[in-house]
Amino acid sequence: MKKQTQAIHTPFHRRDAYDALSMPVYNAVAFEFDNAAVMADAFCQRIDAPDYSRVENPTVTHFEETVKALSGAQNVIALNAGMAAISNTLLALAGAGKNIVTSRHLFGNTYSLLTDSLARFGVETRLADLTHLDEVRSLVDDNTCAVFFEIITNPQLEVVDPRQLAAIAHARGAALVADTTIIPFTQFSAHDLGVDIEVVSSTKYLSGGATSLGGLVIDYGTVEGFGTRMKNEMLFNFGAYMTPQVAYMQKLGLETLAARYGVQSQSALELARRLRDLPAVRRVNYVGLPDNPYHALASELYGASFGAMLTIDLESREACFRALDRLQLIHRATNLFDNRTLAIHPASTIFGLFSEAQRAEMHVADTTIRLSVGLECVDDLFEDLRQAISD
Ligand SMILES: *Cc1c(COP(=O)(O)O)cnc(C)c1O
Repeated sequence: MKKQTQAIHTPFHRRDAYDALSMPVYNAVAFEFDNAAVMADAFCQRIDAPDYSRVENPTVTHFEETVKALSGAQNVIALNAGMAAISNTLLALAGAGKNIVTSRHLFGNTYSLLTDSLARFGVETRLADLTHLDEVRSLVDDNTCAVFFEIITNPQLEVVDPRQLAAIAHARGAALVADTTIIPFTQFSAHDLGVDIEVVSSTKYLSGGATSLGGLVIDYGTVEGFGTRMKNEMLFNFGAYMTPQVAYMQKLGLETLAARYGVQSQSALELARRLRDLPAVRRVNYVGLPDNPYHALASELYGASFGAMLTIDLESREACFRALDRLQLIHRATNLFDNRTLAIHPASTIFGLFSEAQRAEMHVADTTIRLSVGLECVDDLFEDLRQAISD
């Protein structure tokens, strides 16, 4: 079965009592057992049956099993936000005295999780330019529990080769963890690229038009003890499991992902091409443009599509604000991969509470607008941007 078929036809874990076609929302906290022995078996994981929805729920299981079938992973855990997927994964891998090697080019909350929250518990974060492999190699040591990176960074759109990071991480027994939110995990095999654990904000492409927050941990089973710790420790003790209502919406989103992503990534490329012709646009950054420095590498790694996020640079921060204020169709909002197109000035918003020096280190420029391209007609989107940007 091809993935778009599998996304719709992955069978339920157990036949539904009423043979519902789509997995119903099992809006229940607890599940009953026939007798005490079966109950003991379920609690001690000798049999697979849900007991309490903080750690297992049939609707969530069906969503997880569909993702598992599509990714070929050994375990998939659905959590209540992308940040929960990232924090639970890193909490499961790290401990006091351990370190994580990563980039300065990170989603803002991930950066703060690493450099503020985990730092308070004695986990050291070592920031490297991941495009300089010698620098990465010099920072990874026997206490490194993970090398963490984003496949296409936001908003810099930098691409590094996971295969090279994997070689460095694995030589020292560290896990390679990839945040793959920017390109749907169905478009490529992270495992084939050497990634041990994939984390995804399913709030974005998967949710199906920004219906709900969610996160996925896609575990290829290559890190000793990780899957067991996620299930037996993280879900129980941190309580960030996805709710059945959200799993229902995100499963529906997954069913239409291939169709939506095809349109959105094509429109992003078309917009990137057209925006280059506007005199007020200093630069268009999109990995799909053939002259982008990461185009060849990204094509090799992630295939023929490059996501639905791009950035444009205007003359100044004031020019960016003016353009944003003039938009009539495109929404001034954060989030990515909604059905509607969104625009934001990252330096003053997502990264607004970082110091100017930190923003400079992260290469978040004052002149950049980020666009997340939706499902509208590309002509309408271009026309809105053209009128907003021109004098
Ligand atoms: C949005 C996002 C996250 C955080 O996901 P939430 O679902 O908002 O918690 C993490 N990484 C990347 C790359 C994102 O775009």
